[in-house]
Amino acid sequence: MTVEGIMPHGCKCGKDHLCAVLEVVTGIGAINLLPEKLLLLGAKKPFVLADKNTYAACGEKVEKILKKEKIAFSSYVFPYGDIKPDEKAVGSAIMHFDSSCDVVVGVGSGVINDIGKILANVSQRKYVIVATAPSMDGYASATSSVDRDGLKLSLQSRCADIIIGDTDILKNAPEKSLVSGLGDIIAKYISIAEWRISNLINGEYYCEDIAALIRRSVKLCVENAEGLKRREDAAVEAVFNGLVYAGAAMSFANASRPASGNEHYFSHIWDMRALEFGTNSSTHGIQCAIGTLICAKLYEKLRSITPDKEKAVYAVKNFSLSSHQQDLRRFLGKGAETMIGLEKKENKYSLEKYEKRIDSIIDNFDGIKKIVSEEIPSAETLEKLLDSVSCPKTPKEIGIDPSVIPETFAATKDIRDKYILSRLVFDLGLTDEFCEYIRYNIGG
Ligand SMILES: [Zn+2]
Ligand SMILES: [Zn+2]
Repeated sequence: MTVEGIMPHGCKCGKDHLCAVLEVVTGIGAINLLPEKLLLLGAKKPFVLADKNTYAACGEKVEKILKKEKIAFSSYVFPYGDIKPDEKAVGSAIMHFDSSCDVVVGVGSGVINDIGKILANVSQRKYVIVATAPSMDGYASATSSVDRDGLKLSLQSRCADIIIGDTDILKNAPEKSLVSGLGDIIAKYISIAEWRISNLINGEYYCEDIAALIRRSVKLCVENAEGLKRREDAAVEAVFNGLVYAGAAMSFANASRPASGNEHYFSHIWDMRALEFGTNSSTHGIQCAIGTLICAKLYEKLRSITPDKEKAVYAVKNFSLSSHQQDLRRFLGKGAETMIGLEKKENKYSLEKYEKRIDSIIDNFDGIKKIVSEEIPSAETLEKLLDSVSCPKTPKEIGIDPSVIPETFAATKDIRDKYILSRLVFDLGLTDEFCEYIRYNIGG
């Protein structure tokens, strides 16, 4: 399947929806098509990149296929699993790279893919990913999530030219990876709702066709969720395709809006704290699932309030940015400096912009509530769904101290200039009230 074929050129939103992925090859035995796809790219000598675990899961098989077809190759296998996407690992991959190779073939999921995309980008080679797990939506994206100088950030890299997702390999991924993939999928309930809300309040660009594509994927994954636990082909394929589409949707929109909202920012904050203070964390997708449930509960609360403009303006005018930034420094350590530096450029807290926005929020509050009810399932429904795949539902279950959740919520609005729930709640002058609500009703 070609990814660009999913979306029409000349969409009614006014954009041409482009994605750099040439082809996504899925289904049982898809891996056997690797030689043919290398030929399609005009590649003669692949450089295979794997780690100890992904080599055992599939790297060895990739090498066998190449040997059988008499395709010369070089490879580097990290001698350990559970790699961190940092300078050491990226440097290691670059130092082992064979410059006589003309294409990088990553064999793995999150971290190997992030490193493979960077290696392809710096070596100016084409990139093929042979996926070993449907665990996150970075397969069709041109950025890599890395830890640089002890900070988590998104680095521009190379989008995969070809993505291979062999169902027989994907369905044997660790259970945690399968659950993570579903977690990254249900996050889209929140991201789509927030994209629409920002479109309504701020006039931000929005494409209904992209949103509809994501909704269809999420629906298919949720309908098949129970089969995921049994590793059924249809369920695994639904999650894998959904994740590829979500990555492609970010290219189509030229923004992360279709795939990431406030729930992702919960995960980012927990990752930042883990990096800085060594606190516990879990996989990206599981953290996003927990963030999604917290957001669903907070949106339920939002639907119950009646906005009060006077109260909102009073709270926002009396907000002290400098003392908030001191709180961020204490809560996040070094990571806070990036956020504080960004605010200087983005000016998210500008009172001038706020005064225009608050009227739009008050005027459109019924519209906001309508979007929430249309896009976000009830917390109860989400809890049942997460239970059906044995996904953790609370921060406590992944070793995160419940007492940090209110502060996490307050810090999510500072990550970058993206209009999400915590920004809306701030604009309504309700940050303290929501933090209290989290403390007494959501914490555990
Ligand atoms: Zn469009
Ligand atoms: Zn994600």
